[in-house]
Amino acid sequence: MKTLLLTATIAGFSLVNPLHAQISPRPRPIIVAQSESGFKLWIKQFEAKALANGISRRTFNRAFRGVKLNQRVMALDRKQAEFSRQIWDYLDTATSPKRVKNGKAMMQKHRKKLRKIEKKYQVDAKAVLAIWGLESSYGSNMGDINIIEALATLAYEGRRRKFGESQLLTALKVIQRGDITPKRMMGSWAGAMGHTQFIPTSYQAYAQDFDGDGRRDVWDPRDPGDALASTANYLHKFGWVYKQPWGVEVKLPKKFNYGNASLKVKATPARWHELGVRLVSGGRIPNHGKGSVFLPAGADGPAFVVFKNFFVIKRYNNANSYAMAVGHLGDKIAGGGEFAREWPRGPGALKLNDKIAVQELLNRAGYDVGDPDGIIGPKTIDAISAFQSAQGVPLTGKADQDLLKLLRRKVR
Ligand code: CA
Repeated sequence: MKTLLLTATIAGFSLVNPLHAQISPRPRPIIVAQSESGFKLWIKQFEAKALANGISRRTFNRAFRGVKLNQRVMALDRKQAEFSRQIWDYLDTATSPKRVKNGKAMMQKHRKKLRKIEKKYQVDAKAVLAIWGLESSYGSNMGDINIIEALATLAYEGRRRKFGESQLLTALKVIQRGDITPKRMMGSWAGAMGHTQFIPTSYQAYAQDFDGDGRRDVWDPRDPGDALASTANYLHKFGWVYKQPWGVEVKLPKKFNYGNASLKVKATPARWHELGVRLVSGGRIPNHGKGSVFLPAGADGPAFVVFKNFFVIKRYNNANSYAMAVGHLGDKIAGGGEFAREWPRGPGALKLNDKIAVQELLNRAGYDVGDPDGIIGPKTIDAISAFQSAQGVPLTGKADQDLLKLLRRKVR
């Protein structure tokens, strides 16, 4: 899931994870040879900058011990944007039965702690759980790259120099403060750390020492308390409205003016009622504050009125699809079900069994997609692209009926 959120582009939004600071997709650069010796020289130069910014030589040496130019980080940074995915495919994965089941188990396991966090920060536990589930699959995928090495590589390589440098300086300050040892400071290639994937500047501004041991340990595999409190604090600081939903599914009247279906148009539930908007059950939209009509898949798909908390979630990761996934996953963890209206999946769309068949055929053809689970993630999309490329057919990266037919014809 992590890799999915790292690279997937959904509905035009790049989901580089987490987008506390925006990393916009850029055109492929001219590849300049990057060498270990050049990197060593860069570290020397950067050291002067770090010392001028209040980092002690001791901290610097500790943090940079054994740090090398990280080829994996460079490869991931240079990877081209993934094919766009439809909102329903993304939500299928983001709110899969497995993620919901694990979320419910985590709700049980950490019940006491979550209740305390909810009270203290006035942020609903289900939203915090959902972010945890999306960012690291509840701590099972926090990233295994040395953060100093990742950020130094990004800062040296040049494409994200400014981002890499400022995050790296902040990461050094975190080490100097004693929150974490350099060795345990692990995360994603893009610098996101811990259970809920904070980049260093977000960590510095919002991380919490919930258990009061003097360290803001968002990495502890046994105790996610600090990390979950940090996430709750982040949402609180951006205006979370306690006990209010992210949105509700609605139905629109026949004569609805679709010009009003915009996140920029905000009105009270009473006003939407006057305009004929109703809950899917037919009832009146409760007063959750001002909201916007949101049609993630256009007029033929489910319709929603989204409220303040939808926009607060977007401060964590600035994509509508991400905000929906967090909201919907949280609702499912709390016992909610699927949306009432079907997504317009279209005639070429594959059902779950067909998606599994696609993965089995790709595996058989030598394109490794891992365990066939019906989730069309980056690994499967890469395999589809490679297969399409080898077959000389147009590259779509899409698991659809055309692809399944071609696979069945070509793969024995
Ligand atoms: Ca702590």
